Amino acid sequence: MTRAIAGSLLLLAWVATALSAQTPGDRVARAVSEQAIRAHVEFLADDALEGRAPATRGGELAAQYIAAQFQRLGLKPGGDSGSFLQRVPLVSRTSTGMGLELSGDTASFRPITDYVLWSESADTMSEVVDGPVFVGFGIVAPVYRWDDYKGAPVRGRLVIALAGDPDSSIFDRHTGMPYGSWRYKVDEAMRHGASGILLIHTTHFTPFQWGNLSGFARELTAIQKPASSVRIEGWLSEGTARRILAGQPQDLDSLIAGATHREFRAVPLNLRLGLRVATRNRRWETQNVVGLLPGQGPLAKQAVVIGAHYDHLGIREPVDGDSIYNGAEDNASGTACVLAAAEAFRWSGTTSNRSIYFVAFGAEERGLLGSQGFVARPRGKTLVGMVNMDVMNLWGRSRDIGTVAPDHSALGAALRRAARAESLIVTIDPDDVRRGRLFRSDNFSFMQVGIPAIRLLSGLDYEGRPPEWGREQKEAMWETRYHTPSDDVKLWYTVDGTAQQVRVLVRMALDVANAPNPPRWAPDSPFNPQGRPAQR
Ligand SMILES: [Zn+2]
Repeated sequence: MTRAIAGSLLLLAWVATALSAQTPGDRVARAVSEQAIRAHVEFLADDALEGRAPATRGGELAAQYIAAQFQRLGLKPGGDSGSFLQRVPLVSRTSTGMGLELSGDTASFRPITDYVLWSESADTMSEVVDGPVFVGFGIVAPVYRWDDYKGAPVRGRLVIALAGDPDSSIFDRHTGMPYGSWRYKVDEAMRHGASGILLIHTTHFTPFQWGNLSGFARELTAIQKPASSVRIEGWLSEGTARRILAGQPQDLDSLIAGATHREFRAVPLNLRLGLRVATRNRRWETQNVVGLLPGQGPLAKQAVVIGAHYDHLGIREPVDGDSIYNGAEDNASGTACVLAAAEAFRWSGTTSNRSIYFVAFGAEERGLLGSQGFVARPRGKTLVGMVNMDVMNLWGRSRDIGTVAPDHSALGAALRRAARAESLIVTIDPDDVRRGRLFRSDNFSFMQVGIPAIRLLSGLDYEGRPPEWGREQKEAMWETRYHTPSDDVKLWYTVDGTAQQVRVLVRMALDVANAPNPPRWAPDSPFNPQGRPAQR
């Protein structure tokens, strides 16, 4: 044997050892293609896609492009009737008229100035309501040991609740379930079978001014829901609430005083209200793009979701002569991550025990509608966890990866393991927490229905850059480019940082998809459907 041959054999043996030492996570991470990420970002953010607004030519082109990529990669169609596209029926309502009368009170209430009313179920409706029930803040939150309903008989009755939540020292407003939001209160009223809900605006418990509610008179869009008991929704100004409650044994101040304690019990009100709404409801739809990588074995009926919204704002008022809101960072970047992740799984031939859904959501910018439609849709698989990519790193290689409130569930630990395998640390930027980034993207639609979800964000510490550079880039994005035509592909953008994020993403998804148990909620997370009360 010559020395050269012996050397080659040694080298071969070394290569074989190195290959066998590769974990499935290493293999799928190594199959992440920077070229693919760049191609997807540049195509999706091109002017030709006209800002990808729902139900526009550009939006549909984006959906068709993503579907074609899923097909090319050999994913199974996860949409309607054997296709990759999943319809999401929407309804846009515009209030065209409203009326509010208090029996025995001759003075009139002025629409928008004194109250707003609408209905999502009927175009016009007129009702006389006897004996509405005051339900405090209308919150049921076992994890905070709080229940404003306490079994009060409200089925078929109108409930009146205070807007907001009673106490920031009890309710975690930054990373907890937003119990103060009107959407939550409507859903809670629906769970109790109430026929309607009116929220009382006060400057003390509500973070916005009454004037902001004038927006309710404009068009608002929601997913078409199965029939709800709640037929009428609305807001009362503080002054209106005072007038309505004037003749009651307890006035507004005394009701508020009672409602700020855990011992509060619902108060039936002895009054009669006439409510009238006229609404123009426009029914239309958007679509999600859904590809499935089937799992292998008995856990295949469970699925992990890798998701990002592909829609953006479309064509709007020009800024400096540019009217196309391209949405390169928001969120061609995240969509490219989903596509690159799917490609890495297929190219590396990696399969997992649980199935993996790759989903591009529509109409996120209209209020997380595509993801709400996705979780509401019955399907053959149980969703055990979701990883969301929204506004990813186009700025360069970093030493960290961002997230917000990761420890609501075991997904936080899975993220740290995946990041460590890529020599990255996980950073939580208090700015992201304060700006509500936990709630303002598709991960929230999953968390609201009890499915653990996490959002990946960009880090703060960039290779070859001074320490403050990362924060400066974040500020430039969120304060200047975000939701403007200047969120477009820049010459200086690179995708090496995006590729780091996708490598973390695929490692994490594979880890969760192969773990013996699904990721658990933290016992005291306000999102945990079986949550136990925190010790407070
Ligand atoms: Zn976004």
